[in-house]
Amino acid sequence: MCDYLLLLVMIEINEALSLINGQAWAHRSVRVKTVQSVGHVIFEPIYAQLDLPSFDNSAMDGYAVFGDGTKFKLVGEIAAGQIIYDRLKAGEAMRIFTGARVPEGTSAVVKQELAILNGDQLTVSSVSKGDHIRRQAEEVRQGQLLLEAGHCISPASVGLLLSQGIVSVNVHASPKVSVLVTGDELVDPENALVKGQIFESNGGMLVAALMEQNVTEVSLLRVKDDLDQIKNQIDILLGESDILLISGGVSVGAYDYVKEGLEANGVNEIFYRVLQKPGKPLYFGRKENAFVFGLPGNPCAALTCFNIYVKALLAKLQGKSMLCAEIPLAEAHTAKGTKPVLLRAKITDGKATVLKNQSSSMLTTYVGGNGLILLQPGEYQAGTQVTVWYS
Ligand code: AMP
Ligand code: MG
Repeated sequence: MCDYLLLLVMIEINEALSLINGQAWAHRSVRVKTVQSVGHVIFEPIYAQLDLPSFDNSAMDGYAVFGDGTKFKLVGEIAAGQIIYDRLKAGEAMRIFTGARVPEGTSAVVKQELAILNGDQLTVSSVSKGDHIRRQAEEVRQGQLLLEAGHCISPASVGLLLSQGIVSVNVHASPKVSVLVTGDELVDPENALVKGQIFESNGGMLVAALMEQNVTEVSLLRVKDDLDQIKNQIDILLGESDILLISGGVSVGAYDYVKEGLEANGVNEIFYRVLQKPGKPLYFGRKENAFVFGLPGNPCAALTCFNIYVKALLAKLQGKSMLCAEIPLAEAHTAKGTKPVLLRAKITDGKATVLKNQSSSMLTTYVGGNGLILLQPGEYQAGTQVTVWYS
């Protein structure tokens, strides 16, 4: 097909992303341990089980005093975690440490630096009522909303949940993903290489990319460029996956059987071929509740399509939103060709520098970057705002 006709049957990047984001999906939840929940998204609101703090306690190492004078009698000591609970009388003071429960009657905690102790006689410069006492429920009141549904759990949220004694949470279940790698020329990197063959690297790379997105149920299978094998494996994997990623064989070469294999299995094509470089032959389809991506075999193209499109679907299924940003170009750049380009870039100090030597097969450039930027063909001055996906 000539280039002009190809342009007519390709869809644009934004259109492809809207088709992915528009897919209906019945979200499922799963209970996970709070300590293993970082990066997951909360499925239903979580309410506070305790006041925070759950008792009045000292914010300082110092003295709990009763009264507003400057002289007190020291009657004891209370440390963090100590169960004893004394009551102060007027004119009395107690040595106290950060986090310890303040005795009843305490007017304030006086910092130890501002107090002089002589025997059991304590002299302070002044007492300001309520000073250095963390009041019960001043941060959180029992029953109040602690974390909203849709909140993506961070280390801070893990800490907050644990401070409430909440040791497990309901989160959006991550999809089950299968990776099917095609290609006669590919050898498992564990085996020896024969001339004309290459090590199969997309499989492990995609598994790693999935793990980075908190997908834990992943399987990896390799098949030859053989229509029957491809058809059979697609049939089996569709039955056990929410998402099937197929690497290679989706282009128009004589041994590219993936599309035929998907059609034979009744997968409905949602789009095929995107107006972009790299990753033009990208395929996206669905059969009932299983989604399929046909990713190009070229490693960079495969990873670029993963970083833009597969991540968008994963985010949707995991209850997250996928973020892109607008940032300025650090240097002038000319985007050659006729298609929009997704370029590997290094983002530093909030500016994107396009990396040299970009080719859909070269991962070395990819490794040096931390984002993908989108440019329409044309010339760009330094400072031009561009869309970036961090990856
Ligand atoms: P294909 O999309 O199957 O036509 O493959 C395009 C290019 O990517 C060819 O040069 C393949 O050798 C290479 N390639 C395909 N699959 C892989 C893979 N799993 N690992 C590394 N390179 C691959
Ligand atoms: Mg191939």
